[in-house]
Amino acid sequence: MGCVIFLKGCNFRCPYCHNPELVEGNGRDCSEISEEFLWEFLEQRRGLLDGVVISGGEPTLQPWIFDLCEGLKDLGYAVKLDTNGSRPEIVEDLLKGGLVDYIAMDIKSDPAGYRSVTREEGASDKILKSIKLIMDNAPAYEFRTTCVRPLVDNSRMRTIARMVEKANLYVLQAAHQTKVLCPEFFNGLSQASAGLGGGNKRGTPILSKNELEALKSIVEPFVNRCIIRS
Ligand code: SF4
Repeated sequence: MGCVIFLKGCNFRCPYCHNPELVEGNGRDCSEISEEFLWEFLEQRRGLLDGVVISGGEPTLQPWIFDLCEGLKDLGYAVKLDTNGSRPEIVEDLLKGGLVDYIAMDIKSDPAGYRSVTREEGASDKILKSIKLIMDNAPAYEFRTTCVRPLVDNSRMRTIARMVEKANLYVLQAAHQTKVLCPEFFNGLSQASAGLGGGNKRGTPILSKNELEALKSIVEPFVNRCIIRS
């Protein structure tokens, strides 16, 4: 059993983001709980919790990520990091310091598709760098993609499969239209209005079970293991 620390602030704007309240803001400037409470909570649960997940938002944007991971390791916790992979230099330093035990990195789309979820220059180069760093150095990891049109289709998935070639684990995640950052994206309105260009001829960005299975069959020859997480 573990717990999750959510850090505010993200440089991406994924339309299906389930934590819209965490996209804006700053990881340390959080009114939900104080750092004092956080460390007291973790100290009291030493030996009871196996590990801590650091999620967001995008945790690697926060300068105190190193303090946080060091503190968790000092308390004896295993640390899992959720990241969008946009800060390879931070991922590299965390790995060099032995501060993370497991990394789950999102892959949003093929390199061309990244323009739709972030306005940062060179985002796809950074993504490719993070993939290599993680594959070469992480103690354990997974790459994962939330599957929505038009960020993901068979053609884009062939490119993504090559991006993660030889990875230990690649996860296809089904999308759910619950509380999301960009509800209009799921409401059959033009995806251009959601900043994603094109239109959605099928009426929903959510892929069916059969479509997810088709994506899985595209990726499977490239990686050690590919699963669908619904
Ligand atoms: S899904 Fe992750 S990367 Fe995308 S906007 Fe939400 S927190 Fe940021």
